[in-house]
Amino acid sequence: MRILVIGGAGYIGSHTVKELRRAGHEPVVFDNFSAGHPQALGGSEVFVGDLADPGAIRQCLEHWQPEAVIHFAASIFVGESVTAPTKYYRNNTVGSLNLFDALLECGVKRIVFSSTCAVYGEPRFLPLTEEHPLAPASPYGHSKRFVEQMLADFRTAYDLRSVCLRYFNAAGADPEGELGEDHDPETHLIPLVLRGALGAEPLRVFGGDYETPDGTCTRDYIHVQDLARAHVRAVERLAEGWAGEPLNLGCGREYSVRQVIAAAERVTGRAIPYEVHPRRPGDVPRLVADNRRAEDALGWQPQWTDLEEIVGSCWRWMQSHPQGYAD
Ligand code: UDP
Repeated sequence: MRILVIGGAGYIGSHTVKELRRAGHEPVVFDNFSAGHPQALGGSEVFVGDLADPGAIRQCLEHWQPEAVIHFAASIFVGESVTAPTKYYRNNTVGSLNLFDALLECGVKRIVFSSTCAVYGEPRFLPLTEEHPLAPASPYGHSKRFVEQMLADFRTAYDLRSVCLRYFNAAGADPEGELGEDHDPETHLIPLVLRGALGAEPLRVFGGDYETPDGTCTRDYIHVQDLARAHVRAVERLAEGWAGEPLNLGCGREYSVRQVIAAAERVTGRAIPYEVHPRRPGDVPRLVADNRRAEDALGWQPQWTDLEEIVGSCWRWMQSHPQGYAD
């Protein structure tokens, strides 16, 4: 299939582009390069444009006539979304609506959407199932939840078939070393822990007094290649006639911040300095996915289930690319 990947130059998008090629599909990319990297495209064709510009996305769809779309493009910083919500509703919600309008106009009826476990808000039970109430705790989470709602309504009204993939904590890097995580600013735990091994300032651990076994927050870290494989399966299942539904993408196990630090120390063989700081506003103590629905619907299972291997893949990328894609 020819598949248009919106935001295909970003972290999860670029890994998905690579997996699509490996599976024999033809990915083409739409990206505004506000956060993505041209070096991450791996030779895929790209249309440089912005979802704020409905004309650009229509032109791109008319040019390539893809059979399906995978939509990654979004602003992703939860903290920033609290202080700059307009940016999040504009980029994530309005941008998506512009995309869906263009899809309907151009007759594209299948879409895989990057959603997030942030749509659930503070968990009322764990592990989180897809039935958990949606009560986002940030504008970022709301901006994604609104898109999920639009897609549900558009399925009914226009037969636009969609799957919303609710990611837990994406981590790791392409095992072949071509792709990795390169955010500016970097806010994610694993790269920041590894920067500590490279001599950066001590890691700030946000909160040591949570009601968890070691007092630090737990998260469900899922390797970016497992996420990418799930996208390939999702778009293939839509093509087979599956109607689509929201799916959790996590490993189904949780690790604390201290466990991540310990894993990184084993992987790097270096001590990682850290200081315990106050809690970061908006952080929930624990997050872990029930991923059985994704396993059933996609015939997919995470293959990177070992935290050290996930951290190790990130470490190899950081050693070969200390300045990210600039190297
Ligand atoms: N975290 C931390 N120090 C940092 C960055 C993150 O202690 O410099 C913690 C954060 O509080 C959370 C976990 O690491 O419990 C994962 O945070 P991240 O920002 O990677 O992902 P999030 O869960 O917020 O999407």
